[in-house]
Amino acid sequence: MKKPNIVILGAGYGGLTTTVKLQKKLGVNDANITLVNKHDYHYEATWLHEVAAGTIAPDRARFAIKDVIDGSKVNFVQDTVTSIDVENKKVVLEDGELDYDYLVVALGFEAATFGIPGLLENAFMIGNINSSRMLREHIDYHFAKYNNEIEKKQERLNIIVGGGGFTGIEYLGELTNRVTKLCEEYDIDRNQVRIINVEGAPSIMPGFDPQLVEYAMNTLEERGVEFKLGSMLKECRPDGITIEKDGEQEDIPSLTTVWAAGVRANSLVEKSLETNRGKVEVTPELRDPANENVFVIGDCALIMDKETGRPYPPTAQIAMQEAEVCAHNLATIVKGGSGELEHFEFNNLGTVASLGHSDAFGVVFGNKKIFGWTASVMKKVIDNRSLLKIGGLGLMLKKGKFNIFG
Ligand code: FAD
Repeated sequence: MKKPNIVILGAGYGGLTTTVKLQKKLGVNDANITLVNKHDYHYEATWLHEVAAGTIAPDRARFAIKDVIDGSKVNFVQDTVTSIDVENKKVVLEDGELDYDYLVVALGFEAATFGIPGLLENAFMIGNINSSRMLREHIDYHFAKYNNEIEKKQERLNIIVGGGGFTGIEYLGELTNRVTKLCEEYDIDRNQVRIINVEGAPSIMPGFDPQLVEYAMNTLEERGVEFKLGSMLKECRPDGITIEKDGEQEDIPSLTTVWAAGVRANSLVEKSLETNRGKVEVTPELRDPANENVFVIGDCALIMDKETGRPYPPTAQIAMQEAEVCAHNLATIVKGGSGELEHFEFNNLGTVASLGHSDAFGVVFGNKKIFGWTASVMKKVIDNRSLLKIGGLGLMLKKGKFNIFG
């Protein structure tokens, strides 16, 4: 009998976890497994704010895909997916095509700019290793340039961060650490630097516990962050932004605007499959309801939280849990036995947001609030756990975060 082709798109948290689980569950004679990814490395998307601020080197946040896959069972293809043809069960790549019998779509997220003029062209995004590294280099350049001009340009030292959600706040935490170092390095008075957060809602981290929100805000304000809450970003130009609050507009000059206020599913999903809010509202087995041989996981999948009636937020945590169910279900189908397909149930292990190298805040073990150093250690445990799950002890020891005192 012909071996089925399983094709997995994306080697992020969802796709790579599915691959490493499947390679354990299936033998070489059970299926051909192909993993497709743009790069030959996996990056820890949850560490990208550190790369973007320059508090860790880009290489710290990535590792080679070949180091965690079993080459005898998985064929890795480094290429970019350009479309998915579900009718003919084909994936079109920049450099060829792949036929599949079963497909896993795990292509992750991209920035959502909500049509705000100039944002796409002029703002920096924290979306992958390359965009994060470019932002780090850009800020370094402007700090280096500042003292080399006779007429000093304040806009070189004004950094705007759009969005007071998880990514924006984590980035501000790292940035405040980094800016202190940059000021020492380039002989700049720390008080000269303006770091401005623009958030449309009346508070940062909307929906988060108010005590934790207050902790995060106080901490960042003490480090010099200015919050512009209830303020909408109206336009982004190469040399500044316009914001609006209560009908009043304000222009802020800046050569660095970082957009961290929204993500959406990879737009390929909307182009190829039926979607709700840009994502596939999957069945409990994590299948596309219109194509039962297509599984969709991670940021491309929409799953409703029955308690709140709203979709679960896109996180690495949920992507990895979905991947385990997806791998189980695929292995069960391929082996054709009498095994049951699993239904996905999210097991919320908590949320911890970092505020730089030794500070964080969050909720764990159901409803326990944690702050400061304890939360920072917990955040490192969470980061290490994901490495352990994907690449075992070896990867965790090589790439993990063990510097709990700094
Ligand atoms: P991804 O991890 O984004 O992986 C997608 C993969 O697909 C990538 O390897 C990408 O290169 C590849 N790809 C994309 N397009 C193509 C293409 N056309 N062809 C080939 N390959 C392609 N979540 C948490 O749970 N906790 C956190 O603390 C947390 N912090 C975050 C901090 C930041 C700064 C950011 C940006 C996100 C954070 N998240 C966090 C969210 C989390 O990173 C995402 O929800 C998670 O990465 C989604 O996993 P995924 O597998 O769906 O996609």
